[in-house]
Amino acid sequence: SKGAALVSAVAQRLASQRRQVDETLAPFRLSQEQLQLVKTRMRAGLEAGLKSKGPSTIKMLPSFVYRTPDGTEKGKYLALDLGGTNFRALLVNFKKGLQHNVRLYHKIYTIPQEIMQGTGEELFDHIAQCVSDFLDYMGMKNAHLPAGFTFSFPCEQTAIDTGTLVSWTKGYKATDCEGHDVVSLLREAIKRRNEFDLDIVAVVNDTVGTMMSCAYEDPQCEIGLIAGTGTNVCYMEELKNIEKTEQKFGKTEEGEKEEHMDEGTEGEKKEGDAEIPKMCINTEWGGLGDDGSLDDIITPYDVEVNQNSLNPGKQRFEKLTSGMYLGEVVRQVLLDLTRGGLLFRGHVTETLKTPGIFQTKYLSQIESDRLALLQVRSILQQLGLNSTCDDSIIVKEVCGAVSRRAAQLCGAGMAAVVEKIRENRGLVHLNITVGVDGALYKLHPHFAGVLQETARILAPQCNVTFLPSEEGSGKGAALITAVARQKHD
Ligand code: BGC
Ligand code: MG
Repeated sequence: SKGAALVSAVAQRLASQRRQVDETLAPFRLSQEQLQLVKTRMRAGLEAGLKSKGPSTIKMLPSFVYRTPDGTEKGKYLALDLGGTNFRALLVNFKKGLQHNVRLYHKIYTIPQEIMQGTGEELFDHIAQCVSDFLDYMGMKNAHLPAGFTFSFPCEQTAIDTGTLVSWTKGYKATDCEGHDVVSLLREAIKRRNEFDLDIVAVVNDTVGTMMSCAYEDPQCEIGLIAGTGTNVCYMEELKNIEKTEQKFGKTEEGEKEEHMDEGTEGEKKEGDAEIPKMCINTEWGGLGDDGSLDDIITPYDVEVNQNSLNPGKQRFEKLTSGMYLGEVVRQVLLDLTRGGLLFRGHVTETLKTPGIFQTKYLSQIESDRLALLQVRSILQQLGLNSTCDDSIIVKEVCGAVSRRAAQLCGAGMAAVVEKIRENRGLVHLNITVGVDGALYKLHPHFAGVLQETARILAPQCNVTFLPSEEGSGKGAALITAVARQKHD
């Protein structure tokens, strides 16, 4: 009959639609073998970056942080935190004599895009102005506080208080900053205001701050992970494995090592390997794949996102795994499905062509299991996308495939890092804690679970505990400042 023919035609159309969606998403579904390969490549990248010679896409930057906190830190410190999307000023007070008694005041300032992408002078003037506002707010304009500067971009450091910006990442491209010491840039901006004084004692990557703040609570924490606007990892590496540092500071090699040995054992002695001299290394793992080593898993959608970014060819791993890019990958897939007539009735709208519409928070909402499909449709509606019920199912599926791949890749990377630490120590089994921060980790409904599961499968000899940080990078910068200061007091 006619009716039956119609039903079967509809069924066929649905089946073919399903097949095409599955085919589109297939390259995002990584096999165990592929993840294992990513782990191996990450491990090779970590090793190459520690060497003084030869190319490496993973920078492995020395942080000049030689130990995690031991609870003796005390005093009032300012922490200035320039992250992916905003600037935070914090006042952190570690109470004398009382362990783990921290008081904290903070204020958040947004960084407008024209400042992120204007001149360096404008950017640092803006930061100095935020600091000025915060000091007014706290009534501490004349306090001349020691400050730690959390700067969430790759910096080549030669001391705890100098860091040359290697290259901007994420949404930044302010002029005349790359190749310059960012501490000097900040000091100069403060001088230009001629209104208050600060003693900038340390420049700190956000991963290092996060590790330090978590280590304050858990001495087993020797790794810091950021899964937010950008992605990165730091960890405590043995000094003897850091060839570049030995080359640069090689003259007093033995003396250096001994000095830091004393430093490491100054306070309460930690169990286990406190006698081994170490330094925290900012891996900048987001650079994995910049030599093409991830090309076998990179999809045409990733190629598109990379080409449209501020730094084409750079931070390829970051572009597969972090909040600034996941929404863009999703948007590219949706564009393709729409062009193929599989979504939004084949109607490519201006909205869908707009970069940046899918922020991490929307991905997190769309993927929430508690959300009914009707609510997914209403989120899409808010974004200016009219969807049918079928559309909303597909959109949710696309988001799921993209974010799951991101979490798996981070898990594979983490497996490489913990395995390295385990082998360093010559252990059969390693227990270790990772301090974590970032909106993707903290707010996404599935990211943390998939990350953990992947790390567990790919590093079966390591028991990895993930500890979300509270006020991570800021508190950590204050702790590093405290440690650096105490040395001189
Ligand atoms: C930067 C890292 C930073 C990470 C997380 C990356 O884009 O290169 O230095 O730690 O983002 O904020
Ligand atoms: Mg941050």
